[in-house]
Amino acid sequence: MKTLVTGGAGYIGSHTAIELHDAGHEVVILDNHSNSARAAVTALRSLTRHDLPFVECDIRDATALDGVFSEGGFDAVVHFAALKAVGESTVEPLRYYDNNVAGTARLLDRMAAHGIKTLVFSSSAAVYGNPAAMPINETCPPDPQSPYARTKLIVEELLRELQAADPDWRISILRYFNAVGAHASGAIGEDPCGVPNNLLPFIAQVAVGRLERLSVFGDDYPTPDGTGIRDYLHVIDLAQGHLKALDYLGRNKGVFVHNLGTGKGRSVLDVVRAFERACGRSIPHRIAGRRAGDVVVSYADPTKARDELGWTPKYDLARICTDLWRWQSTHPHGFGDQKA
Ligand code: NAD
Ligand code: UDP
Repeated sequence: MKTLVTGGAGYIGSHTAIELHDAGHEVVILDNHSNSARAAVTALRSLTRHDLPFVECDIRDATALDGVFSEGGFDAVVHFAALKAVGESTVEPLRYYDNNVAGTARLLDRMAAHGIKTLVFSSSAAVYGNPAAMPINETCPPDPQSPYARTKLIVEELLRELQAADPDWRISILRYFNAVGAHASGAIGEDPCGVPNNLLPFIAQVAVGRLERLSVFGDDYPTPDGTGIRDYLHVIDLAQGHLKALDYLGRNKGVFVHNLGTGKGRSVLDVVRAFERACGRSIPHRIAGRRAGDVVVSYADPTKARDELGWTPKYDLARICTDLWRWQSTHPHGFGDQKA
């Protein structure tokens, strides 16, 4: 299969590009580097020992997309390109709607014009908001709590309407839980801009000495140790979910929604201890106030992905931490200062 990976220089896209390449896909990467380094593409090429084609362009640029698709031969698009910072989306909603919603509409329009009607879309567990019951399955009513989450839900609805209007479309909507970890080689990994918002990148930067200490956002939640609980999924397991989704779309027309998560909830303190074991250092931390907008507990019911896609995650929290530490300890400053 020839597969275009939008956002393929980013964190999840780069790991998925490798898995697709290793599975025999002809991969073309597209990214505007708004949140990724050029060095990520170099690292991908050296890891795959292949001169992976890369197009620096924006998904909102119809002419550039036409240039890419008119090369011909594309079977599918795996669409990661999006802005993803929840807090930023509340400050700059227009930028998020333009990039994530209008950008996706533009991409779909140009795909249709070139007869490419197979898509895997990166959605998020954020569309569920604060569900009343755990674990979360796909029938749980969406209740997005931020402009970011709403852009994901709006695109999901757009995809359903598109498929209803043209039944030739084959669309997989994957709702990811917390993507973490890094490629086992240590050559690529997550490289957040500025101070990380997310727990594992923050802990990894404390371990490597870039940050002084972790603030644990609340220890008075109604959970066994009082800290928030999430479903942490190794990025390679997540990448493998995309391969399974593409296989599924090869056999099925329609629009399909699947959670990708492990089904296991881990507390902030569980993660701190697991990372301490992986890196052999202690992670200085202090209890801080709750972070506004945080859900208390969130973990997936991944049964549907297991039964329909044949997908089950392989890696546990210990492996997540070992792989992340290999990346962070060999790349204390990520891909360096090469962000566009
Ligand atoms: P990321 O920021 O590392 O990767 C996204 C990539 O898309 C970046 O390289 C960025 O430069 C590129 N991009 C953004 N807008 C673009 C545009 N208009 N044109 C071309 N390229 C553009 O993020 P990630 O963590 O790899 O997330 C990938 C996808 O998964 C996103 O859609 C995100 O919303 C979704 N998601 C991520 C998580 C997570 O835990 N990281 C959870 C749920 C959903
Ligand atoms: N968290 C924390 N300190 C940090 C970052 C996160 O205690 O510096 C907690 C956060 O409150 C939540 C969990 O870690 O309970 C996961 O947060 P993250 O931002 O990684 O994921 P999300 O909340 O978006 O699922």
